[in-house]
Amino acid sequence: MAAGFGAALLAGALSAAPARVEAIRVAEYDARTRVVIELDQNRSHRLLVLDHQPRVVVDISSSTLHASLPERGRGIVRRMRHARHQDGELRMVFDLRASATASSVAIAASRPGEGHRIVVDIFSGSGDDEAPAEASGTEAARDVLIAIDPGHGGKDPGAIGRNGLYEKTVVLGISRRLGRLIEREPGMRALLTRDGDYYLKLRRRYELARQRNADLFVSVHADAVRDRRVQGSSVYVLSEKGSSDEARRLAKRENASDLVAGVELDEYPPAVATVIIDLQQNASIGASLEVGDEVLQHLHGVGRVRKARVQKAPFAVLKAHDVPSILVETAYISNPQEEQLLKTAAYQEKLARALLAGVRSYFYRNPPRGTLIAERVATGEVPQQQYVARRGDTLSGIAQRFKVPVPVLMRANKLQNDRLRVGQVLTIPAT
Ligand SMILES: [Zn+2]
Repeated sequence: MAAGFGAALLAGALSAAPARVEAIRVAEYDARTRVVIELDQNRSHRLLVLDHQPRVVVDISSSTLHASLPERGRGIVRRMRHARHQDGELRMVFDLRASATASSVAIAASRPGEGHRIVVDIFSGSGDDEAPAEASGTEAARDVLIAIDPGHGGKDPGAIGRNGLYEKTVVLGISRRLGRLIEREPGMRALLTRDGDYYLKLRRRYELARQRNADLFVSVHADAVRDRRVQGSSVYVLSEKGSSDEARRLAKRENASDLVAGVELDEYPPAVATVIIDLQQNASIGASLEVGDEVLQHLHGVGRVRKARVQKAPFAVLKAHDVPSILVETAYISNPQEEQLLKTAAYQEKLARALLAGVRSYFYRNPPRGTLIAERVATGEVPQQQYVARRGDTLSGIAQRFKVPVPVLMRANKLQNDRLRVGQVLTIPAT
């Protein structure tokens, strides 16, 4: 496949004034160069990949350029040019160092004041050079999309700490950090269900994830209980049955979010539908448990973990049915020490990094087909991972878990014997 033609359309209200392209950023990730075009209004765009003189062309309807183009190219991009057509269309041209494939996506601003983005990923190497310049479509490996759901918001503050810290504020902070970390990962992209202090129905949260075909849904919370001594993180997956009393109580409180705001929860689906949903649910509960377990492993490296195993609870927000979903209670806002920690940027970042590590490790073990991560796994481009040893762990058990031979694991960590201490951080070499 020598050249590609991809068209991406975004329905946007076209106002009379042209949109302003306010920034153009180019970043390089391994085999991919990413161009982010920021606009102040939604615009449709068209992507063209030309092989003859290798270049990527992005045509944006009714727009003008109000940003300076980076002078020097980056990654596969040699230089950038632009032109404005008479009909008001803005043409951005990215001259490439070699043939490439590309994909693009338009991301609408999720809140007022935020820019709209057109993200173009350019992958070096398009195969042979025989086909003519205007050939058929090219399918670039896609990114996995992680929906991050900061709990509560707006009129629903969630739990409130003794010193006045709101759950809705803390979880938004952690979620935004997680989003930024994910966007920096090759092959991963993030979607925040809420990116501001406003109220969002539980149902709307998972609908957003489904509509965008998210590969994973992570709801972020920081719980409170009457007993101020209680602290640590826990991870939950959905279960109608088999949940503990405590899990049910917690779910009741989190689910009440919609009731607080005066909205009824969904009606229970009719019997037949329930069976079908149950079937799908079982498949994604397995995946959810696996993600949950990975995340929990990494939370061990941050602080106390309240429950060593993934818990099951009937959370309404996790009812995405076909999207693996977890709910993370990062810490207890009711615990004065944890409230203090949760307020700090450093702790929020630590939690976000642990969540990212868990999510990353899950996707590298279970890469969805057609994704860049699947390609990386196939070519052995697996990033180095960290593992925090827990009580009962053995070196051979960890080796088996990560499919790394024991001697390799020992060498990578300069271990003299197979003794581990709880909390010891091991580097898992890429295999
Ligand atoms: Zn909550």
